[in-house]
Amino acid sequence: MNENRRPAVFIDRDGTINEEMGYINHLSRFILLDGVCEALRLLNKKNYLAIVVTNQSGVARGYFSIELFHRITEYMNGLLKKGDAYLDATLFCPHHPDAVIPAYKMQCDCRKPKTGLLREALARFDIDMDRSYVIGDRCIDMEFASGCGLPGIMVETGYGLGELEYVLPKSRYKPAMVARDLKAAVEWILSRQ
Ligand SMILES: [Mg+2]
Ligand SMILES: [Zn+2]
Repeated sequence: MNENRRPAVFIDRDGTINEEMGYINHLSRFILLDGVCEALRLLNKKNYLAIVVTNQSGVARGYFSIELFHRITEYMNGLLKKGDAYLDATLFCPHHPDAVIPAYKMQCDCRKPKTGLLREALARFDIDMDRSYVIGDRCIDMEFASGCGLPGIMVETGYGLGELEYVLPKSRYKPAMVARDLKAAVEWILSRQ
């Protein structure tokens, strides 16, 4: 038993941490959802790794630069810090098979629902997979959870309510739990330990 091994919560970004606005191609479009600082603070205090896993194909599509993505990550981390919370990492996929930016045009293995971002996390952290979870607002996040062998929690923020109504019924990948928002999802996780 490795005592350093920590459980992780893999958290989608757009629609789960910040308001779903389509592509976040400007800082002004990044707006934290209610309760996010509180949710992350709970994870921080309980020694869970809080790791963002986000598809950012807007980079590949030429809608915004990778520098802007990194600036938004810094901005997000600043807002969280003000709320006395932090993320352990923000892992992202900038690729897309139909990219206009050649460097990012590929069939990668890190675009969710593929699980490359999980492997990236496992290479960086000592993660207790038996106690880890995925949280997101879309069915592809639940498919990602399934690929990772982890329970998925679907939030009703972002695309959540619409996906629950129109996409989930046809999907093979069912959430272990549906939660109102990130905070409710985290509270459910912590109630199960
Ligand atoms: Mg999302
Ligand atoms: Zn990728």
